Amino acid sequence: QEISGGYCFFHGEVMPLDDANVNISTHALNYGTGCFEGIRAYWNGETEQLYILKGIEHYRRFLNSCRILRIECPYTAQELLDWTVQVLKKNAYREDVYIRPLAYKASRVIKVTLSGLRDEVAIFTVAMGDYVKTENLSAVVSNWQRIADNIIPSRAKVTGAYINAALANDAATADGYDEALMLSVDGQVSEASSSNFFIVRDGTLITTPVTSDILEGVTRRAILQLANELGIPSEVRAIDRTELYISDEIFLAGTGAQIASITSVDHRTIGNGSTGPITKTLQDVYYRAVRGQDERYLDWVSPVY
Ligand code: PMP
Repeated sequence: QEISGGYCFFHGEVMPLDDANVNISTHALNYGTGCFEGIRAYWNGETEQLYILKGIEHYRRFLNSCRILRIECPYTAQELLDWTVQVLKKNAYREDVYIRPLAYKASRVIKVTLSGLRDEVAIFTVAMGDYVKTENLSAVVSNWQRIADNIIPSRAKVTGAYINAALANDAATADGYDEALMLSVDGQVSEASSSNFFIVRDGTLITTPVTSDILEGVTRRAILQLANELGIPSEVRAIDRTELYISDEIFLAGTGAQIASITSVDHRTIGNGSTGPITKTLQDVYYRAVRGQDERYLDWVSPVY
């Protein structure tokens, strides 16, 4: 279903989404010279409140992506969050929402460069139904490699870089898998097609370091914090492909994926084939925290209304 109707932020103001259009000669459309974010807002039906999850953290990463791409964003993280609140209020959602900030090279020129171009910042939002699969995903190690930081900056959320994720994901789903795990050019596991990932070995939670060509995930950081506070030992280190096969648990971590258990990789069953106990413990805390239902993590969320 195509996104239409409602309001967005474009050209410095809140305006109807259906009027927020760009020309086919726009630099970003031709060369992928943009960056974006994916943020969730969660509806709490009990208190009738809408909460943005980790808005400032996402907008800080957004500004870092802009810096890497030489995009000048005229707003601070707080100002971007304030515009987001205005858009959400205008759209008056009473369900979960996905928020998509976008910054891009808006000039209408043929020139392969990042400099001397006009930049534009926009934010649109879309209601997101309850359901994404969070249990028992099957994964394949993709033969598409994860982009390396000195090929396309992997720690920036670059528009054009998602062709890499799309190729991996498209191939994985065509072959009947739910998700693709991607190796870096040096052959170690980097991350999934659009989320970070964790494995559990002998009770220790393990994820790859920020120098493994990953996107520096907001959810990844939140999970490391939870593990620390729940007394689950954790390690941040490189992960080999065959460690996947002998892991007790594997799960995806991302704004879109949330915490989603992977119970098979390359046709090997992980653990006993269902969501493992550490994954379950983290899910239980996470899914309450994101809706403002856990007092310990109220600083993760900011209320819209
Ligand atoms: N890696 C990639 C390539 C992604 O697109 C995402 C989703 N933004 C993530 C990791 C997870 O990041 P986050 O937890 O901040 O959503």
